[in-house]
Amino acid sequence: MLQQTQVKTVIPYFNNFTQKFKTIKSLSRSNEKEILKMWEGLGYYRRARNLLKCSKHLVKYYDSKLPKTLEEIKKLPGIGDYTGNALLGLVHDKPRIAVDGNVKRVFSRNLNKEESEINFVEFIKKNQKKLFSTNRNADFVEALMEFGALVCKPKNPNCLTCCLNKTCNYFKSSNKIKGTRKKMIKNRNYDIFCYVNKKRQIALKKNKQISFLKNFNIPAIKETIDLKNNQEWKFLKHYKNTISNLKLNINLYYKFSDKIPPSYRWYSLERNKEFIPSFTKKIFRQVSTLF
Ligand code: SF4
Repeated sequence: MLQQTQVKTVIPYFNNFTQKFKTIKSLSRSNEKEILKMWEGLGYYRRARNLLKCSKHLVKYYDSKLPKTLEEIKKLPGIGDYTGNALLGLVHDKPRIAVDGNVKRVFSRNLNKEESEINFVEFIKKNQKKLFSTNRNADFVEALMEFGALVCKPKNPNCLTCCLNKTCNYFKSSNKIKGTRKKMIKNRNYDIFCYVNKKRQIALKKNKQISFLKNFNIPAIKETIDLKNNQEWKFLKHYKNTISNLKLNINLYYKFSDKIPPSYRWYSLERNKEFIPSFTKKIFRQVSTLF
């Protein structure tokens, strides 16, 4: 849940989730619909789907326990090197480091070398003895990430009070590295076409084409084309929506109709038992202004 998401946003979701699913087994008995509903508003829904798949895999092949090697852990859906190492450290207390953005920054500042110049896997291998001179590996994995988030922060690191400042090359150097630049934001333009009916319903279908909205229930969506003289669809609104590093410029069109193509289903604009992603909810809010 914490991937790309702030702690304060995650807390209520985490509490609900762990309240409802107390064990891997109970999670494995759930289904995608239920999990997505509980995840609604948290974004990056692939995490929820993978978590469910993981639980089923663990119950089926590992008696609900986490395997002990990186190779086996990485066979779990959605688990790569980063999460695999974090799990080995946190769950099995193995000497591992989860190399996230915070950890990269701490290392790169200590060396006073740009992140792009460091091979982190090699660096950790080479310095294994120094790095893992502890019998509290689980705490160390966590502490390193927290240290980057709270002390060696992206902006204004707390160098003066930092316990590493005597050996830190960034602190000592008069020629300090600049650090990583922010992810490039990409602009994309889309037209969205909404069937609406008088019962305050909107027609949605499962999106298969646009990768960052894959499997979401949304109206028809296309890269922007010139619709100036379009008779069929009426223009409703232009608005912006940001998803990850994509800034979407959206033109919203609508048409009142009782008939919809077979791949669509009607959804209430107000209340749905089913999971509705925030991208679609934003469309609901715009379309509601028609009534
Ligand atoms: S001295 Fe400053 S730059 Fe170096 S590790 Fe500490 S906080 Fe980071």
